[in-house]
Amino acid sequence: MDLDLGDLYGEVILDHSRKPRNAGALEDPTHQANGHNPLCGDRLHVTLRVAGETIEEIRFEGAGCAISQASASLMTERVKGMDTAAIASLSERFRALVKGEDVDEDAEPELDKLEVFSGVGEFPMRVKCATLSWHTLAAALEGRETAS
Ligand code: ZN
Repeated sequence: MDLDLGDLYGEVILDHSRKPRNAGALEDPTHQANGHNPLCGDRLHVTLRVAGETIEEIRFEGAGCAISQASASLMTERVKGMDTAAIASLSERFRALVKGEDVDEDAEPELDKLEVFSGVGEFPMRVKCATLSWHTLAAALEGRETAS
């Protein structure tokens, strides 16, 4: 394996894990869910306010490895203001990216900054760390209390 953890924990990931964006909990969420990744011990609680089909506000609280917390931070930054259909499609593309599958570069919405997680595919144990926040968001939007 050519990659080491230094490559995986790139600058953007380290920055977001140390200074998470949208940290905390909304006082008046319309949706919320808990996420747990037993393989690593990562935990997340995501609260959001949805108006119509649009995510107006989203925050998260959590504890766990740098990948899981940075992924949650980058996710909240990315999905704020997006509509839920676009988020579902973005979530699918993100999952393919971290699993090391082919991702259609021309598809919308673009992954943008989320591409910093492309190295995760080299570390299968870390895939669930990176996708936990997206599973938890999906659970919240579907009205489930916990991600599975
Ligand atoms: Zn983890």
